[in-house]
Amino acid sequence: MMEAPVRVRYAPSPTGYPHVGNIRTALFNWLFARHSNGKFIVRIEDTDTARTVPGAVETILESLEWLGMDWDEGPDKAGDYGPYFQSRRIEFYRLAAEKLVKKGDAYHCYCSSERLEEMRAGQVAAKMPPGYDRRCRDLTDEERQACIAKGRKSVIRFKGPKGGETTFSDVIRGEVTFENRTIDDFVILKADGFPTYHLASVVDDNKMLISHVLRAEEWISSTPKHLLLYRSLGLEPPLFAHLPMILGPDRSKLSKRHGAVSITQYRDEGYLPQAMVNFLALLGWSLDDKTDIIDTETLVKNFSLERIGKTAAVFNREKLDWMNGVYIRSLDIEDLSTRALPFLEKDLPGSVERPLDFEYVKSVMPLIQERARTLGEIPGLTYFFFISEIDYEPELLIGKKMNRDITLQALKASLESLEKPGSFSRDELESCLRPLAEKLGLKAGQLFGTLRVAVTGLTVAPPLFETMAVLGKDKCLERMRKAVLKLSSVESE
Ligand code: GLU
Repeated sequence: MMEAPVRVRYAPSPTGYPHVGNIRTALFNWLFARHSNGKFIVRIEDTDTARTVPGAVETILESLEWLGMDWDEGPDKAGDYGPYFQSRRIEFYRLAAEKLVKKGDAYHCYCSSERLEEMRAGQVAAKMPPGYDRRCRDLTDEERQACIAKGRKSVIRFKGPKGGETTFSDVIRGEVTFENRTIDDFVILKADGFPTYHLASVVDDNKMLISHVLRAEEWISSTPKHLLLYRSLGLEPPLFAHLPMILGPDRSKLSKRHGAVSITQYRDEGYLPQAMVNFLALLGWSLDDKTDIIDTETLVKNFSLERIGKTAAVFNREKLDWMNGVYIRSLDIEDLSTRALPFLEKDLPGSVERPLDFEYVKSVMPLIQERARTLGEIPGLTYFFFISEIDYEPELLIGKKMNRDITLQALKASLESLEKPGSFSRDELESCLRPLAEKLGLKAGQLFGTLRVAVTGLTVAPPLFETMAVLGKDKCLERMRKAVLKLSSVESE
């Protein structure tokens, strides 16, 4: 028998913005599809209309696009098995539910929500496992007719087996067994005619010819229900692979507190999509248990379900920051500058003239490329290159084992040397200032510390000579003259 082509799906519910966990699921599906020359399908599971969040679908698609996960079928990409929004497939679910009722594998349940609540409260009080007590399972025809005559609304429930086990072979976990008594007669079609997740998922995975269901471990307890539905509907189930959980560094379930925010927030904070893909791929999968930096092409080439782990993955924000730094350092200056530009435009102080001079931005970037972990950090690391007035406490100019007068003298001597006509290149600056420190009887670090504060306003900044060369002679001399003035206003001890 020929193996069916790989067709996998990412099936988000638009009940919120996609976070790390959702997107990791999307990525594993995408990597598996691309590795296997299969199809990656996006299906929007929007049958819970009350929980649908406006804008969520757009954000989901935007997140996929940002990370380079293209889909073969889905919203905006018609395929042979659409529509790809469950809310437009209601008829399929209704027909399936009716088929099950006709077969005697499902039934109408007329229990009111009050009755169900009472039943639940009773179960809690008696410390019984929760679940529908099957009151409507064996209604006689007359009883049913009476309910209909009273205009009672009904849901359709699946008639679960009363005993036995449901077993399946999970691609990642191996054999998984559930006792059927833990599965109650779950609802498949709600009173408003919308399906529940279970029915919709089974009907669609079948109609869309899904070969493998790769989804988060939290769904594993739904799988026996799905298998029972496949069997009753006379359908062949796909293969199931449940991806390991993602925990926070404290090993509790990943939450907002751990940085499990919407994926687009990472984009907005200046993470690079390549770094994000690399990082997410390692949440539950590994190439060889040791390689950390893996580009997307290599991921696609090497991805396999066999190397997905069973144990929970830990989300480590520091690792993401480190990894993003590695990717930032690998960019050429033109590329880095292009990516940094919108962050600079947005976050530099309002006093800085816009649009920024791209050539100037390009000259600044090499100075911080080693240090920036995110693009969002770049305005904070470089603002003194752009603003006209730097602001700092004059005392900062006075370095270790120096005083006001020595510092003033050092600044004035530096000004005098640098005011002479000549190049202001990095090397020129160094060969002028190093000997000057000696002449002044200062350590190089003392003089350079003073000059660093004078030209940047900071005690920690990129390498001094490079910084001065980029700022240019005029600006440096002007800032040094201002430093002399500032310091002169400080009382001598
Ligand atoms: N709609 C479900 C979700 O939001 C899909 C679960 C599945 O993949 O079956 O995650």
